[in-house]
Amino acid sequence: MRVHIISDMEGVAGIVRAEQTSGGEPLYDEGRKLYTEEINAAVRGAKAAGAKEIVVMDHHGAGKGWSFNSLLPEALDPACEFVVQSSWTQYTEFLEEGCDACLLVGMHAMAGTPDGVLNHTVSGREWFNLRFNGVLVGETAINAALCGNWNCPVVLVTGDEAACREAKALLGDGLTTVSVKTGIGAGAARNLTPTVARELIEEGARDALKDLTAVEPYDPGRPAEIEVDFMHTGFVDSYRGRNGVEIIGPRSICARADDWWTAWRNLFLEPSLP
Ligand SMILES: [Zn+2]
Repeated sequence: MRVHIISDMEGVAGIVRAEQTSGGEPLYDEGRKLYTEEINAAVRGAKAAGAKEIVVMDHHGAGKGWSFNSLLPEALDPACEFVVQSSWTQYTEFLEEGCDACLLVGMHAMAGTPDGVLNHTVSGREWFNLRFNGVLVGETAINAALCGNWNCPVVLVTGDEAACREAKALLGDGLTTVSVKTGIGAGAARNLTPTVARELIEEGARDALKDLTAVEPYDPGRPAEIEVDFMHTGFVDSYRGRNGVEIIGPRSICARADDWWTAWRNLFLEPSLP
């Protein structure tokens, strides 16, 4: 069994403040440790379920050289390999080769979720709403659609209560979720201790991988339409004339294509890749 672990930092137990997730901040060191140990818990669970190949892909934009590079290599379980990418959704090789299941660890809720700890969608400074074929979505949907493009189901989502609720609404009741904290606001939460959170994530990963048919691979629909509402008008400027992307309002753009992956690449990836 080949298992992909795709992970973010804001949904980790004990991480409640932006300073714990921002490269260079004094609190970031603590955040990295908490993050890496939750990944190790998921790796142990995957191993126990029979995974023979486990690849971890961090998609947290920590800033500076730490973007997509927040995991502590020395502390990672040797049963996994880990990807450091230059842009989120750049690395697709493991999915292309054929991957049995994906585990999403450390997820946060979409922008605008009142009880979502550190809630945002893609960029707290630039983005607000994201819609796939008219449905308001967050980062769980981006990762699920990426996996779904290569027919790989997301079977586990861990994060705060709000992220788990969002994931079940998107992917259905067959999804296993592990909530490690309950938001009291964007920068406040009641947390499980890291020890308990890691036990639950290990169990959740092991259990979720017992039935790979519990969740359908996610496809937002064909043809695909991806809309983004930005925080202000200036952010649409770089999309003028972009292939496959239309400016549909003062702060809004829409990418359309036959399938989600083509639309997403046009919107998100093309300019940043060499
Ligand atoms: Zn993040």
